[in-house]
Amino acid sequence: MSHSDFSSLKLHPDLIENLKTLNYQSMTPIQAQSLPPILEGKDVIAQGQTGSGKTAAFGLGLLQKLNVKRFRIQSLVLCPTRELADQVAKEIRRLGRGIHNIKVLTLCGGSPMGPQIGSLEHGAHIIVGTPGRIEDHLRKERLKLDEVSTLVLDEADRMLEMGFQESLDNIISQTPSDRQTLLFSATFPKKIEAISKNIMKSPIAVTVASTHDGNSIEQHFFNIKNTDRTDALIILLQKYQVESTIVFCNTKAETQRVADTLREAGYSALALHGDLEQKERDQTLARFANKSTSIVVATDVAARGIDIDSLDLVINFHLSKDNEVHTHRIGRTGRSGKRGTACTLISDKETFKLGKLEEYLGETFAQVPLPADTPSSQTAHYPPMTTIQIDGGKKQKVRPGDILGALTGDKGIDGSDVGKIQIFENWSFVAVAHKASKAALKKLSEGQLKGRNFKVRRLK
Ligand code: AMP
Repeated sequence: MSHSDFSSLKLHPDLIENLKTLNYQSMTPIQAQSLPPILEGKDVIAQGQTGSGKTAAFGLGLLQKLNVKRFRIQSLVLCPTRELADQVAKEIRRLGRGIHNIKVLTLCGGSPMGPQIGSLEHGAHIIVGTPGRIEDHLRKERLKLDEVSTLVLDEADRMLEMGFQESLDNIISQTPSDRQTLLFSATFPKKIEAISKNIMKSPIAVTVASTHDGNSIEQHFFNIKNTDRTDALIILLQKYQVESTIVFCNTKAETQRVADTLREAGYSALALHGDLEQKERDQTLARFANKSTSIVVATDVAARGIDIDSLDLVINFHLSKDNEVHTHRIGRTGRSGKRGTACTLISDKETFKLGKLEEYLGETFAQVPLPADTPSSQTAHYPPMTTIQIDGGKKQKVRPGDILGALTGDKGIDGSDVGKIQIFENWSFVAVAHKASKAALKKLSEGQLKGRNFKVRRLK
């Protein structure tokens, strides 16, 4: 019996038998690492992507603890989208089919309320749902969570990205404090660390081996010789063609000029600096985080507002005079176990600055010529998402769940086509996949959002 064999765990024989019928022969790495502490009742925070077998990891944990005879809600699984919730509920039902009379109920936005209310009246053992809808049922006192012994946050990073922090806080506050909490997330931005500190007790961290070698940022220093600096920048953008790039400039004026030039050249680029109005800055940050704009040209100060865990590419239009600032800039790429690339444009006159950086870092860097063989055609990189602005926000009581529900409910767009949702005082932004943007605009302008006609428009 190997340690990745399910029978090495103290699981109910019924569950083990059923795993055989499902042909789950051995544990996946995330299961092998997380199931032992989960079955001991510990809080676990795990890095788990779809396909890793994470659902069975928490699903087996909550099924093992379940007392079927007690017809109360004992487990609550929160997911960012209806599609994921449906998938999770299906997998839990499959894993639990050896247990008689087990009731798993999904409660998601975008589905009619009536049948959900009926099902809730009949009761359930396990609830899988999206935060907005669960909150609605809690508010109307149709749902009680005071006997929940296991709480699962699945794809926690996505839930936070979609603006569900407040809903999560509210829901979690209504569960018993002696519950077991399991948190699964593909990435670990600071917000996840913060939430885990608040809601978990001495969590065991589980990370599956990644290819991350500690030195995940590739640095290149391009000597531009006589090439115009903006042309040099375009050569690099053509070479790398990635989804998210930040270009650092040393002054506000330069930032604006470079962004304007890139836009004229057909790139999806926006400037970010302190002279812009707050609304413009919010729009730029939202569009960049949404992946509906692929390049932001920023000053160091303004770039602090960018809340993206890892950028694909950082380009220094000029090398910073401050070595620490340089280190900070390039550290915005290569996070979350991804590889990142940082490029710096250097002229002959700036070579002395590179020498100072080498001294500071105790490394030597080769200066290389600009790549010559980039695709010559002007194939500007089109971002995958579109941002829709809704002229309604916190003041109008617009919540992320309302937007998600309006978009995906009643033959709406697919939940997987919805990206980040951000709610501000008087307006909100939602990212949707390009291909779904027309349908999304229609849904939102048809009065589907809280039954009102908010002004909506696509940001271009
Ligand atoms: P998940 O990452 O939870 O979405 O699971 C991915 C897929 O792997 C699902 O179709 C599961 O049914 C399947 N699966 C999960 N654990 C195992 C296992 N130990 N052996 C074989 N298949 C598994």
